[in-house]
Amino acid sequence: MAKAPAGSVCLNHPNTPAVTRCATCSKPICQQCIIKHGGVSYCSTLCRDNAVRTGAMVEDVQKRKGAANFKRFVIRLVQLLILLAVLGAAYWYYKNNKSKVDSKLQQGIQKVEQGKQELMDKGHNVIKDSQYKKDRENLIK
Ligand SMILES: [Zn+2]
Ligand SMILES: [Zn+2]
Repeated sequence: MAKAPAGSVCLNHPNTPAVTRCATCSKPICQQCIIKHGGVSYCSTLCRDNAVRTGAMVEDVQKRKGAANFKRFVIRLVQLLILLAVLGAAYWYYKNNKSKVDSKLQQGIQKVEQGKQELMDKGHNVIKDSQYKKDRENLIK
């Protein structure tokens, strides 16, 4: 608890030494003026009520913050669970349809190979065309 500085007097009783300070406004107060609330000393009911109200507000904000954090945590957890479920389902599907998936994969690879081959053939044709053009040009000359 905040002790009143040595030699200070109560603001309400200039002839009485202060024993403590108000927890809200820090006024030095004497034993007579202390208004106790929850083990804390205040100079007046106004200061006490202010402190109680502020305390309640802080508590409320903290509660709301806690609720928001909890909500975010739950959302993250749900997202993680969905991800795990999707991965698990994918793994399960692969395990149960390994041959199907593998053959599809093979088909895909084959298609890519085919596409590559076609592209290379086309490339050959382009070269052939240009060779053909050059031959024609040589003929004209
Ligand atoms: Zn006060
Ligand atoms: Zn006093």
